[in-house]
Amino acid sequence: MLDLAIIGGGPAGLTAGLYATRGGLKDVVMYEKGMPGGQITLSSEVENYPGICEPVSGMELMECWPKQAMRFGLKHEMEEVKRVRRECDGSFTLELLSGKTESAKGVIVCTGSTPKRAGFEGEEEFLGRGISTCATCDGFFYKDKEVAVLGGGDTALEEALYLAKIASKVYLIHRRDTFRAAPSTVERVKNNPKIELILNATVKKAYGNEMGLEGIIIEQNGKEIDLKVPGLFVFVGMKVNNEVLKQEDGSFLCEVNEWGEVVVDLRMRTNVPGLFAAGDVRSDASKQVVCAAGDGATAAINAIEYIEKIGELKPC
Ligand code: FAD
Ligand code: NAP
Repeated sequence: MLDLAIIGGGPAGLTAGLYATRGGLKDVVMYEKGMPGGQITLSSEVENYPGICEPVSGMELMECWPKQAMRFGLKHEMEEVKRVRRECDGSFTLELLSGKTESAKGVIVCTGSTPKRAGFEGEEEFLGRGISTCATCDGFFYKDKEVAVLGGGDTALEEALYLAKIASKVYLIHRRDTFRAAPSTVERVKNNPKIELILNATVKKAYGNEMGLEGIIIEQNGKEIDLKVPGLFVFVGMKVNNEVLKQEDGSFLCEVNEWGEVVVDLRMRTNVPGLFAAGDVRSDASKQVVCAAGDGATAAINAIEYIEKIGELKPC
């Protein structure tokens, strides 16, 4: 039986692995379905991770993280975890997509979240090269430039307000003429002189060159508009990657909130003893690399304490 299983190999999972193994746990496996690094590897420029003097790509930022964690004994299995179950002795069973199973005394879920795609032509091509899903991360690259935001929910409108403090102008594109966002936020957006609303409109296509995005084609009331902007922020909802916690009867193994985020306390503990969550998958996450890494460290420190305290598991 493993001491600890970590699900997900992004900043949260890798940091959890580093702290768990360096903190003395012997059998620690990190399950990552792809290459370790997480969603930040999609970003072409990161400049807000502390200690980075010059902007680096997400790939560059994450390059050494797996090597560092594995130096202390973390094992990486390139496997997708299908489900986590809790057994009557308090241990956890991980069902892997490959059909194998593994047991662990403790589990840290670090599966992240995935921004939804709007589905227009060129969206994937320019993601990380002008198309962004994170204003805190990429807004500064558009200082005193014009940008567009797509979406009509709380995230789109709040991020449009944030971007209006940095960019010279923000075009807010929404497919209807009423918003899903809170009325007070809608008022603030409407009263902001730097935000121009483009309503009943959809983005048809993003275009550019090898340097990045040059503009977008919008369709509004049957007419096409060519908006020349170097940046488009897409906020059409987030998918929380909580599937591993879904049980066969459709319930969740631990408490999740109305948006599907895993509810944790300040020690990253869920309401199930031995089950922790860290990074973008947890409730109230700031959705930043530095925060995910901090969560991973916190979860691992508390998982070590939990595993040391329970000692050997008692049979059912
Ligand atoms: P993730 O990075 O999402 O990692 C989760 C990992 O879990 C993934 O590797 C996934 O493959 C794996 N996984 C999921 N489910 C399973 C499963 N069932 N089995 C096995 N493995 C699984 N943040 C910043 O601080 N600064 C920035 O400049 C910045 N720029 C960004 C730019 C872009 C384009 C994007 C998309 C995000 C950006 N972010 C930035 C946000 C940052 O990437 C996230 O906050 C951070 O990666 C979250 O880390 P995490 O470990 O919680 O999750
Ligand atoms: P959301 O509420 O689901 O809104 C997504 C928006 O994107 C909607 O306006 C939707 O349009 C639009 N959209 C969806 N698919 C699209 C597509 N393919 N093309 C164009 N537009 C598309 O998502 P969110 O804004 O990320 O918020 C998620 C949840 O978190 C919400 O419950 C929200 O209230 C909450 N949240 C709360 C706060 C806060 O309380 N301060 C802050 C952020 C988020 P339609 O409206 O036409 O469907």
